[in-house]
Amino acid sequence: GKRVLHFQAGNAAMKTLLGGKGANLAEMTNAGLPVPPGFTVTTEACREYYANGSQLPQGLFEEIRTALIQVEASKKQTFGSVEDPLLVSVRSGSVTSMPGMMDTILNLGLNDETVEALARNTGNPRFAFDCYRRLIQMFGNVVFDIEGLHFEKLLHQMKAERSIHEDKDMPVEGWVAIIEKFKAIIEQRAKRSFPQDVYEQLELAVEAVFRSWNNQRAAVYRKVYGIPDSQGTAVNIQSMVFGNRGDDCGTGVLFTRNPSTGEKHLYGEYLTNAQGEDVVAGVRTPLPIAQLENEMPEVYAKLAHTAAKLEAHYKDMQDIEFTVEKGELFILQTRNGKRTAQAAVKLAVHFVNEGILSREEALQRIEVEHLDQLLHRAIDEDIKLDVLATGLPASPGAATGQAVFDADTAEEWVRSGKKVVLVSSETSPEDIHGVIAAEGVLTSRGGMTSHAAVVARGMGKPCVCGCEEVRIDEDEPQFRAGNVTVREGDWITLDGSTGRVILGTVELKEPEVSEELNELLQWADAVRKLEVRTNADTPEDAAKAREFGAQGIGLCRTEHMFMSAERLPVVQAMILADGLEERKVALEQLLPMQQSDFEGLFTAMSGLPVTIRLLDPPLHEFLPKLEELLIRQEQLKHEPQGQPAAANVDGALSSVPERIELDTLIRKVRNLQESNPMLGQRGCRLGILFPEIYEMQAVAIFRAVLACRSKGITVIPEIMIPLVGHSNELKAMRELVDRTAVQELGTELKHVVYKVGTMIEVPRAALTAAQIAQHADFFSFGTNDLTQMTFGYSRDDAEGKFLTHYVDHNILPKNPFQVLDTEGVGLLIDWAVKQGREQKPQLKTGICGEHGGDKESIFFCHQTGLNYVSCSPFRVPLARIAAAQAQI
Ligand code: ADP
Ligand code: MG
Ligand code: MG
Repeated sequence: GKRVLHFQAGNAAMKTLLGGKGANLAEMTNAGLPVPPGFTVTTEACREYYANGSQLPQGLFEEIRTALIQVEASKKQTFGSVEDPLLVSVRSGSVTSMPGMMDTILNLGLNDETVEALARNTGNPRFAFDCYRRLIQMFGNVVFDIEGLHFEKLLHQMKAERSIHEDKDMPVEGWVAIIEKFKAIIEQRAKRSFPQDVYEQLELAVEAVFRSWNNQRAAVYRKVYGIPDSQGTAVNIQSMVFGNRGDDCGTGVLFTRNPSTGEKHLYGEYLTNAQGEDVVAGVRTPLPIAQLENEMPEVYAKLAHTAAKLEAHYKDMQDIEFTVEKGELFILQTRNGKRTAQAAVKLAVHFVNEGILSREEALQRIEVEHLDQLLHRAIDEDIKLDVLATGLPASPGAATGQAVFDADTAEEWVRSGKKVVLVSSETSPEDIHGVIAAEGVLTSRGGMTSHAAVVARGMGKPCVCGCEEVRIDEDEPQFRAGNVTVREGDWITLDGSTGRVILGTVELKEPEVSEELNELLQWADAVRKLEVRTNADTPEDAAKAREFGAQGIGLCRTEHMFMSAERLPVVQAMILADGLEERKVALEQLLPMQQSDFEGLFTAMSGLPVTIRLLDPPLHEFLPKLEELLIRQEQLKHEPQGQPAAANVDGALSSVPERIELDTLIRKVRNLQESNPMLGQRGCRLGILFPEIYEMQAVAIFRAVLACRSKGITVIPEIMIPLVGHSNELKAMRELVDRTAVQELGTELKHVVYKVGTMIEVPRAALTAAQIAQHADFFSFGTNDLTQMTFGYSRDDAEGKFLTHYVDHNILPKNPFQVLDTEGVGLLIDWAVKQGREQKPQLKTGICGEHGGDKESIFFCHQTGLNYVSCSPFRVPLARIAAAQAQI
């Protein structure tokens, strides 16, 4: 196919070939919008470039030269002409938008001679030489890989010498002098001179843009967003328009709606007499777009009109780059705008109400992972705050962390387990790894469309921008705000919704579901087939989840109820008991506690099913660690002899029952030790060896049922037996539960509908699902253990030891503990569901592992025909939407 396409020849559907920017430039050109003429070199050519050992493929540059002739004709200018030179930009453009990650060069075609022609023809030498120095600067940076810092330092220095604050005040002689110094920087660092041959400029620039696909920050960004490395970038070559020709010129960025809140008003920023990256780089703090209405009313009106047209055309909020040259408006880019979750939800609902989208389309638009940020805690306004400064509210949410002043430190500290807020005067794309690591970002310069803000919004990280009250001293490092100094490591909190920078940590309040989110969730409920339950162990969590729309509890882990300070000693006494009689005494004590736990859950979930899993973890988890006991024993040897040493001498062991001697305790703990506890005496194996434990739990459940029923609460208990691998295990435990029900419920038995089922988490259980289903009313896939046992990966060790390496080196596509392995583990689930249903058509099936809240896994559950997914309370809304998306 063709490797070079004029804007007239493309359209928005050709993103894979032309990249997002090129495809949209083509679409806009054909829609008659004012787009400077140009053409796109395809992503295919980029892939060829890499396949060709990072060399431009045969004949490509000739095709580019030919295409340029058509641009020259329409502009009536000639590239490299000393009469009337055509200038172009060379712009990267990936398939998936990666804002600021790759490179662009402006004003290409200027050299020592053509710059004179530009000066003469425009009658504006200051402007011409400003363009030239920008070209050399960008070229040095992008083509010769010279850090931008070297040029900027020099520029600052020259401005300081002349007491000039803004670039636009630099006189022509200033630029001429700077150009000489910039050229010297290139010669010194690149060991070659800035090319005067304009075609050489063009060739090097195209290659550099291809190369920029593989720069560090682009690679990091692709990883975060799962963009394939093989995609490649297109290159757009476009005739220049100039926003830096005077005060009737300018450049800016415009969102058709507010990308932070979703509200319907134009939102953006611009700078007069400026070019390209000036706005987004945060070098000068730009003006709000509303001001353009006063300064250039006609341009503003045309811009507003174009914005509306583009939004209607793309049926989505647009992020538009524009330039004004001598009062004339040009559109240089449009794309679907990145937005916060809050805005995404509001926009989706608005677009439906405005008749732009159907409900299904609106639901499809929601990135469920993104919703996570809406359902997190925010600053409680009723608390008095120590506000240090206020900047622009660039990305909402609250972030608390220790202040750090550069991206590398941010990354390092987070790796060592700290939480950080990245503070910097302005962020550049090179800081992306710092933004990823940080809880939030604070910048002292740059506007709402600055790089930091765009990236933070996309990642759902709180961000405060352009906070000029914050004066940063990067060398120290520290910042001052008013008379407060915040040093590296001091705790600060950002409120990205209001722009406040707060000293210290702040108490956060529970999130609420907004009106729009609620509406969207109701649309989702009307569509989806998959039920959404929650994993909850406390009445509070259950209530929260119910508020978020949970249709029951899919997993209550009873062991969590045993961990509290007053219960642990009783649990330990139960475990350490000598013989059945002694154990029963301890269980008697636990019984009323368990019963009240269940009453709380049943009450919170009245009318909805509550799945209770009987005790699962190995018993040693409730006891002190053997090493600690041995250390204690060693210490005691050196203390004066007296009474027999009690075990609970120091704080760490204080929960151990008083009367047990240390030696005895050590012996018992040692007896419980196993080499592979996760494959050891746990789950139903405990229930079979110590039936009195499960029996106590069953008694507690049925007594709680009776107590709740007498208060008019509708209880639907589902008792779940963990870690079954053989049907006989379930058979035995089911008999125990049924017997207890008869005994406890008496005449009420006929009114209570309870279910007994099992976790499917041992591969053998999945394989023999047909036999297991004979004794089960439901299957709940415990995909954490099922993944662990199917892969043979220890969940507690794998990540740190090899799993990260596996994912980094593409041995595994994803971490299977995060995203369900549909090929392997999924095969077992699929098989078990089919076999189970064949045996028992009414069998209920669900998933209760970590995967229950993950989008891809939810899609899989839908396809496999499970009845429900169960996830943590905060992920319930997200799961409701994902379940709807799976259906659409
Ligand atoms: P990015 O992908 O990083 O946004 P762009 O290719 O969009 O890079 O270029 C950055 C900026 O350079 C644009 O926003 C625009 O202001 C400016 N620019 C690019 N091409 C031209 C052009 N032909 N004329 C004037 N300005 C341009
Ligand atoms: Mg750029
Ligand atoms: Mg751009």
